[in-house]
Order: sequence, then structure tokens, then C-alpha cells
Amino acid sequence: MTPPARGSEGPRSGDRYDAIVIGGGHNGLVNAAYLARAGRRVLVLEARDRVGGAAVTEEVFPGFKFSVFSYVVSLLRPEIIRDLELPRHGLHVLPLESTVTPMFNGDYLGQWGDHDQSRRELYRHSPRDADAYDEYGRLMYHMAHAVKPILAMLPPDPASLSPRDLLGMLRFGKHMRGLGSVKFNALHKLMTMSAADFLDEWFETDVLKATKSASGIIGTFLGPRSPGTAYVLLHHYMGELDGVFRAWGFAKGGTGSISEAIAGAARGFGAEIRTSARVARVRVKGGRTTGVVLESGDEIGARVVVSGLDPRRTFLQLLERQDLPEGFADAIGRFKFRGSSGKVNLALSELPSFTCLPGNGAHLRGAMSISPSMGYVERAYDDAKYGEFSRRPYMDIVIPSMIDPGMAPPGKHVMSIFVQYAPYALNGGWTDAKREAFGDAVIDALAQFAPNIKRAILHRQVITPADIERITGLTEGNIFQGELALHQLFFFRPTHAWARYRTPVNGYFQCGSGTHPGGGIMGASGRLAALEILGGL
Ligand SMILES: Cc1cc2nc3c(=O)[nH]c(=O)nc-3n(C[C@H](O)[C@H](O)[C@H](O)COP(=O)(O)OP(=O)(O)OC[C@H]3O[C@@H](n4cnc5c(N)ncnc54)[C@H](O)[C@@H]3O)c2cc1C
Repeated sequence: MTPPARGSEGPRSGDRYDAIVIGGGHNGLVNAAYLARAGRRVLVLEARDRVGGAAVTEEVFPGFKFSVFSYVVSLLRPEIIRDLELPRHGLHVLPLESTVTPMFNGDYLGQWGDHDQSRRELYRHSPRDADAYDEYGRLMYHMAHAVKPILAMLPPDPASLSPRDLLGMLRFGKHMRGLGSVKFNALHKLMTMSAADFLDEWFETDVLKATKSASGIIGTFLGPRSPGTAYVLLHHYMGELDGVFRAWGFAKGGTGSISEAIAGAARGFGAEIRTSARVARVRVKGGRTTGVVLESGDEIGARVVVSGLDPRRTFLQLLERQDLPEGFADAIGRFKFRGSSGKVNLALSELPSFTCLPGNGAHLRGAMSISPSMGYVERAYDDAKYGEFSRRPYMDIVIPSMIDPGMAPPGKHVMSIFVQYAPYALNGGWTDAKREAFGDAVIDALAQFAPNIKRAILHRQVITPADIERITGLTEGNIFQGELALHQLFFFRPTHAWARYRTPVNGYFQCGSGTHPGGGIMGASGRLAALEILGGL
């Protein structure tokens, strides 16, 4: 299969829009903003009544606002923040400074914003690990730097002999060679090992390894001992806030304010955004797109159509199978989603009091990680492996109202609990009763460390992978629009030969997290796709 020739998307008179972007998730919005910034007439069509996809803020209970799905930010590309002037459109990120892991023996492990404080804390657990920690931090910093240029690269097709792809492969090879043998070796390990094995090479403290390994399981249907999780760990290191690696933060007003800021920038450049406008089908004539058909029956013409949806929806739902070359639909059908994450959002009458650090304190302004041991996290996966939600799940907990008081009424709080594992393919399927049982398991597990939590709950919202799929359209509830596994990354995302945002249909492009470099509130897919489109539009 050869991608369509570049330079063939010139303006066509009669179409009101140069480009239609399907889906107002943050990637679709970034894409629209870049296209509009370049002077193109752009229309975004979003199915829901609000933009943002998995990055939305909603007042779920009166007075209590939640980042319903995605809850912390760090991966958003700095060039996008700059190019779209997002702070001018309301983006304000507040730092999240610590991670504290309560332990079963009543102790805890704290990782604080202050480097010396963290080192002292680690020393308390293991002088050897305290010594290794700085070196590990330096390695991950270098690794993130090694991978960073790849995030901004249009993936070349290694099987193609076109000058453009050959040049891309040369650039890629040169970059790899430039790393030198030590860094290349470390990168190779990160790309292939399990998070547990990788961390074993560095540390001896179980609770430290368990907490660090958790970054490697997020959004995957893998346990910390599964090969491939070390890469996901690195993926989560790639974030950059104000140039500081590995800094996570809250968007003031919730993650919806990130999407609103991008939408504001897109509108500022002249893009039109329509909500409650679900696209039913992409029109194709003679091998090229001519526009879209909405669920309402309305048809809108455009020279270029860009899908911000995941690969299954982009190809298997919006197109007819006959529009795709032989074998392509099968390749997309094999793309793995396997959602494994759930979310519990709580409205609280009082703050949780953790046995390890009772009462209010700096730790409640950061993340609380329920990952007391590697065995605990791996066993949580064992449940999911056999089709059950974790009885004792891994949880990443934040209390946004501690940092952004506007999220809850005075004196009250909102708590966000990100949970692994909740398999999409639950034995017997998800029902209302199973959803509540899952919510109960989460609260019971948390109550082991924060005994007052049950009495503090005013309201709770429990979200399963089936709910994620139903509400946001993320297939099988996979938070990254498809697993971040080696066989689905870079020039394989979503499938070989079609990783450069183009599709077998002329004029039809893809820009969601299901393309390189993958999920998280990063915006990179939206931007790279826009650059590719603008090369020809
Ligand atoms: C529970 C959860 C927690 C997460 N936590 C974090 C986190 O803390 N930090 C982080 O960086 N990332 C997190 N993520 C991942 C991150 O939010 C996603 O990877 C990212 O938001 C995906 O963005 P996107 O624009 O690629 O796609 P989406 O957000 O999936 O956007 C697709 C859009 O298309 C719309 N749509 C679907 N079908 C149609 C149609 N037919 N017509 C028109 N519109 C349609 C959808 O409504 C949606 O708005 C989390 C995700 C989830 C689900």
C-alpha cells in the first residue's frame, strides 16, 4: 500500500470548509487550532454537548466539580502551549508536589517536591536506594531526552523506499546512534523489560519499586512484572511543565479547562466548533473523501476530513469496508484496546485522615498512591487477568480542592481516585450491580489506609471501562485510544505503513491518541497530523 501523493489536497471551490475535524477531544482541537492558525477554514464536529473527550470538567454533584476522567497534566507538549498561547486562553497549571504511599505497617514512603527532603525520606528506608536515586533520576532524564525528539517526529515507514521515508529512517538511525552505547543500552532495556525487572536493577525498597512501577501499568492490561511496562513508565516520564521533567500538575478548573483553552485558541484563529454533532459516516467517492454525514442526516462537504477518534472508530465505523484496501481493516481489527482502568470520584464532607499521616498536611496537596508492595500491585493484576476487577486495586488519589478550592463548596472536598484494574471484558459483563461492587472494593481498599473515608463520602461517581467507552467513545475504555505496547508504537501506531496520520482514503487523516506518539493529554498527535496535512492542503 502506498500512501497517496502529497500535495494533492489543494482548495476546492464550493466546499465551505477546507477541513472538518471529527471529535473535539484535545487532539482534535489542537489539530483544528493549527489548521486554522495556518489560515484554513476549519469545522470541528463533537458528538457530546461539550468539547474535551476524556479531558473534561463536570459539576457532577451540585457545587462539586470533577475532572471526570483525566485528572493530572504533564505530558502536554510545551511547543503547543507556546504556539497556541494557551495561558492567554485560560490554561493555568498548579503544581502537584508529592507522592505519598501508605504502607500496611502504618509507615509510609514520601516523595516530595524538595529533593533533599525526598532523599532523607528514602534514606530512612534504605541508604543504598537513597544513593541510587539520583543516578536513576539522571538516567530517566536522559532517557526522556533521548525519546523526546521521537515524540516530535513524523514516523517514517521502515518498509518503504520512498526518499521521504528513507530520509526519515536515516534521521531516526542517526538519532539512535547519537545516543551512545550506554544510553542506547538503557533505552533498549526500557523498551523491552518489565517495570519490576527494570526497577530491581536499581532499588531494593519494595514500596519504592511498587510505587514507581505503577507508572508502568497505567492504561495497560499488564502487571508490573509483564514485559513492556518499563516503556509505559518512561512514557509517563516524558512530561514537561515549564521545562521541568517529571512534574505533574492540576489544571486550574480541572482538565476541562485545558480543552477549553485549546478550543479558545482554535476559535481565536477562526475555527468553528459544533457540539452535539455526531458524525455517522465519512463520505468517500473515487477513493477520496468529500466530507461527512452527521447522525442527524446533514451532510457537510470538505476537501479534508480528520478523525480525532480511535483507530477502530476512524476506520471500521466511519468508513465502509469496501473503502479500505484488502488486509487493512483486519490489521486495524487486531489493534489492541483492552481497557483496564476505572475511576471513582468522591464528594467529601471532610478530608481523609490517613493512619500513616493523620489529619491535614502537605501530603494531601499531592498524590496518594495505594501501591504498598510489588506483590500487592501484581495481585491486583491477577484478578483482572482472569476477568475480575481487583479486590485490592492500585489507586492513584488526588484531592484537587486542596489546591484549587473552587472545585468544591467551602469546607468540602473532591477526591479523584484512578483505579487499576477494572477489565473491560469483565466476567459476565458490566452491570449496575457490578459497578457498585467495584466502587465498594475501591472504598474498602482505601479505608484500610484512611479509616474515616466512608463517613466522609457525600456522593460517589463510579466509572467503569464500559462507562468510559459509552461516554467518551474511547473503544473498550482504553484511556490511550489503544494500548501503548511496543507493537503499537511509533511506525506501528496504529498500523504499519499508515503511521503518518494519512489513511488509505485520499484526504482522510487521523489525529487522535491512537496515532504516534500515543495517549495522555499531550496534543502531539493533533499537532503532527496538522503539520502533515498542511504539507499538502
Ligand atoms: C479515566 C481516565 C483517566 C486518565 N487520566 C489521565 C491523566 O491524569 N493525565 C493524562 O495525561 N491523561 C490521562 N488520561 C488519558 C487522556 O485523557 C487521553 O489519552 C486523551 O484525553 C485522549 O485524547 P484524544 O483527543 O486523543 O481523544 P478523546 O479524548 O477520546 O477525544 C475523542 C472525541 O471524539 C468524540 N467523538 C467520538 N465519536 C464521535 C463521532 N462519531 N462524531 C463526533 N465526535 C465523536 C468524543 O466525544 C471525544 O470528545 C486518562 C483517560 C481516562 C479515560
